[in-house]
Amino acid sequence: MPTTKGGSRALLRALRTVMASAGDGQQRLDKVVRLVASNMVAEVCSIYLKRDESTLELCATEGLHPDSVHTSRLKFGQGLVGLIAERAAPIVTDDAENTPGFRYLPETGEERYRSFAGVPVQRVGEVMGVIVVQNAVARVYDEDEVEALETVAMVIAEMAEAGAFLGSAGLAAVAGRRQGPVRLKGKSVAEGIAQGPVYLHEPRLVVFDPIAEDIETERARLSGAMTALRGDADRLFAHSDSNGTDSGEQRDIFEAYRMFAYDKGWQRRLHEAIDSGLSAEVAVEKVQSEARARMERATDPYLRERLHDLDDLANQLLRHLVGPEAGTAPEIPEGAVLVARNIGPGALMDHASRVSAVVLEEGSLSSHAAIVARALDLPMIVQAARVVRDVNAGDHVIVDGTEGHVHLRPEAVLQDHFNQKMVLADKAREAYRALIDKPAITRDGTRIALKMNAGVLADLPTLAESGAEGVGLYRTELQFMIRQSMPRREAQAALYSRVLDAANGKEVIFRTLDIGSDKVLPYVRREAEANPALGWRAVRVGLDRPHLFRMQIQSLIRGANGRALSVMFPMISDAAEFYTARDMLLKERDRLAAMGYAAPSDLKIGLMLEVPSLAFAPDALFETSDFVSVGGNDLMQFFFAADRENERVSQRYDMLNPSFLDFLAEVARRCQRAGTRLSFCGEAAGRPVEAVALAALGFHELSLRSASIGPVKQALLDIDLKKAREAIEFAKSEGLSSARDALTKLIHNSHDFDGRTP
Ligand code: PEP
Ligand code: MG
Repeated sequence: MPTTKGGSRALLRALRTVMASAGDGQQRLDKVVRLVASNMVAEVCSIYLKRDESTLELCATEGLHPDSVHTSRLKFGQGLVGLIAERAAPIVTDDAENTPGFRYLPETGEERYRSFAGVPVQRVGEVMGVIVVQNAVARVYDEDEVEALETVAMVIAEMAEAGAFLGSAGLAAVAGRRQGPVRLKGKSVAEGIAQGPVYLHEPRLVVFDPIAEDIETERARLSGAMTALRGDADRLFAHSDSNGTDSGEQRDIFEAYRMFAYDKGWQRRLHEAIDSGLSAEVAVEKVQSEARARMERATDPYLRERLHDLDDLANQLLRHLVGPEAGTAPEIPEGAVLVARNIGPGALMDHASRVSAVVLEEGSLSSHAAIVARALDLPMIVQAARVVRDVNAGDHVIVDGTEGHVHLRPEAVLQDHFNQKMVLADKAREAYRALIDKPAITRDGTRIALKMNAGVLADLPTLAESGAEGVGLYRTELQFMIRQSMPRREAQAALYSRVLDAANGKEVIFRTLDIGSDKVLPYVRREAEANPALGWRAVRVGLDRPHLFRMQIQSLIRGANGRALSVMFPMISDAAEFYTARDMLLKERDRLAAMGYAAPSDLKIGLMLEVPSLAFAPDALFETSDFVSVGGNDLMQFFFAADRENERVSQRYDMLNPSFLDFLAEVARRCQRAGTRLSFCGEAAGRPVEAVALAALGFHELSLRSASIGPVKQALLDIDLKKAREAIEFAKSEGLSSARDALTKLIHNSHDFDGRTP
């Protein structure tokens, strides 16, 4: 085996000649195994490539029975070869037969060979196959030899990715592109179904020449890229230190980044990889692959997090190496499904207009990207394990954002099924479009105002398309969450002004900053709280940080610039909080007016009822508030003591539980007595059955996702609220834990409820 760097380089140079040689993929692979066997003085050299997700196929061999090529197969985890693939780690032994996991493949004739060294063929953590050398005599392959084999494996992986082994029937299925249908299960964070070609947010880098032409040149390239990377890390750190916000957490992250960028061990490993004859790009990938394999094995969350940082840094280093032209993302095909390991909210916003769905390998329910996706009605699935590895750019994919399924390269039957589903959904949308200008008046003549929830400017164009009568909830914090620093007063005012421009005279209810709990600003230090949902959040933060609160109020008044303005405060738990917040708002209005700013032509100040205590507040609260908006998402979690972020319990209780409906009815009565406008703006308002129940209880204003306005309007047009009330009463008198069945039956089967059949 070549035990010197020089020997390894000579082997790589010979490999390059093979790569450039004429012939099909199989011929090239055959040449590779011959070359490696002779260079490494091994009697056997074999390459196994992945046939599908769990099978390896012997694709070329020097030394084993030629007949076993393309017939001999192993599952991941089976035999030493399968174990190497499963663990993404080498196995070296001088006594193969007695090594745990050994499995003898009789068709190959390998029983004669006692010594065995195998390493994974992998590319940035993705195992594509295994390369093995074997000898008859008992001998231990040393560290340098294994290292050399790993370097060869790297080159083979790059060659496979670049398509060097395609072009022969036997190999088509195993080398190069990922093939065949794959179904992945993730978590749905934004509902809806969509399909389209895959757009890889960070396309895989294809290296056409993995072998260094000249070692010194590669060293210099790596040093240049490293200097640029350190410059980035220094700037980020310096910025986090000086941007004046309370960003300790962010600073820690950047500091860790910087530490890695200067890490001597990382550099040494990179230079060693170049010394063995690899190009700078492949050297970075080799070290990155090793780190990824460690990351997958690590159980300590802190260590995983750090290895994750290192992985990000390696990606950044690669971008510096390949230069700006290779970093330019390809054009996004219209209607594409964006696939990424993770994505920030800003990047998602940039692509949103061209994509039909988003699938992430990581991400979480409460990530900022998920919030943006929900705001834009983009179906989105997170935690779809391995999705980035399993797709090719341009593959067809179906995203079922309702079930949380991702179907890659779907089979015809499944495709037909989804096509039908989408045709039906299109037809329904068409029918809803016809209702845009029609008011939602129930059969018994009750008029329900349907408004939309919004939070980023991009979702306002849907105001006209959806037929919404205004914005019932504008979540101002979203705009804060998707930025890297606190927007200044002028920027905020300009934004609110644009929102009012887009609303074109329709009412927009701005909710003041609702941060804390699930809504975190990247530049504000997050307090560690045992129960963040019950903690320092929403208006509590506003009242304790009057500077921040006043800045937003001033921006709202300035943004309105003499137009009508509606503002509400989130999570009021006690009447005094509302009075204080309201007084601050009125004071700012007067102060700004004295300074010459136009006062709003009409100022409505309301509160969000999200905490059960408020339903028992003094009459004066309801009388003082211009309107009450029930935030059902939070109200449900407090009413049932079930964390909305905890998947185990968030769906456990039904909003149509008669106790909860009774509670809502009481809120409606109190508002009615006080003559206060009442609306409901939680997610439930977007579901037809729930919307009907709310209307029946006296909620004559609902604010919902714009995409749900059509179905909700249709359900309201078809319903007689008196009958809906009877259905609710029926569930209650029967002691049922939900009125859902009774209401659903009423909505779907008939316009009659007989009160006898549940
Ligand atoms: C709610 O809690 O119902 C609500 C509308 O506010 P958010 O979902 O933003 O907390
Ligand atoms: Mg809320």
